[in-house]
Amino acid sequence: MTRISYLGLGTMGLGMVKNLLSVGHDVTVWNRSANGVDEAVVAGAKSAPTIAEAVRGADFVMYCLSDDTAVRQVVLAEDGLASEVSDTSIVIDLSTISPEVSAEERDAFEARGVRFLDAPVFGSKGEAAAGGLWIVVGGEEDTVSQSLPVLEPISETVHHIGPGGCGVRMKLVGNLVVAAQLLALGESLTLAKSAGLDLSKVLDVLKVTDFRSPIFDGVGATVLAGDYSPSFALKLMQKDARLIQSFAKTLAAPVPSVDAAAGYIDAAIEAGWSEENASALIKAVAADGGVSLQNS
Ligand code: NAP
Repeated sequence: MTRISYLGLGTMGLGMVKNLLSVGHDVTVWNRSANGVDEAVVAGAKSAPTIAEAVRGADFVMYCLSDDTAVRQVVLAEDGLASEVSDTSIVIDLSTISPEVSAEERDAFEARGVRFLDAPVFGSKGEAAAGGLWIVVGGEEDTVSQSLPVLEPISETVHHIGPGGCGVRMKLVGNLVVAAQLLALGESLTLAKSAGLDLSKVLDVLKVTDFRSPIFDGVGATVLAGDYSPSFALKLMQKDARLIQSFAKTLAAPVPSVDAAAGYIDAAIEAGWSEENASALIKAVAADGGVSLQNS
């Protein structure tokens, strides 16, 4: 039986843990707070009070944490994972973080002879719960192959993009498309509403065209319903927009759609919607246009 230590039981982590348990893996969880721990234990996980105890004897250590700060605290702090993990474990970071902090982790694990993958995920709460994420991985080929028994139960696809660091880079490239599509949806619905079109009919057209997108379908319906309950919190989208902007800046690559989306994300955060879904940026676009997109 494969022994997995899973750190971080947020929206994504809890779903992943349940799917790892469902295929018979032996999972020990740790979370900074009590959030998610009882639910993981009910699903069959063991819980550990400290990172050191959680990772003892683990074949794999996996985590999906909020951001750079969380990874620094859990992994790179003095008594963090990089000091506590055994060199027989494989460590897999599924968080969306900066290439710089990912490189710091990689160096810290390499210095201890620990195999490490950066393996962020596409998909949201629903895909995490259904074991249908799309994973993009950076690291050694052998380590990726050895990790498939713990990556496949949580995913629909696993793409090995290249050596260490390529997974986090691919994730930022992909999230650029997410930001651009959310912005495009917000702009198009705002324009359509201003023009007096029936937004349900607009979505029916977007659903069948050669520029259709699952984001337009899924998010479009929730916007018309006025439902901004979080699957992917707006504050995390703001973090990602900033990561994309600074990553692109280091490469002198233009990201005009992310720059524009970032302005509306900031406006939506200022409006107090940071804990709502990332689609709340569309509310900020609509507010800018003086319309409401909710079906009355
Ligand atoms: P979340 O629900 O907010 O969970 C965040 C997790 O990180 C929680 O376990 C939280 O612990 C922990 N954490 C935060 N700050 C910490 C700190 N300083 N020290 C220790 N632990 C800390 O976030 P999520 O939606 O699961 O997202 C997790 C990661 O996946 C993020 O990088 C996000 O960008 C990425 N992602 C999310 C989605 C999505 O749709 N949600 C999709 C793809 C990728 P507590 O419970 O104690 O707060």
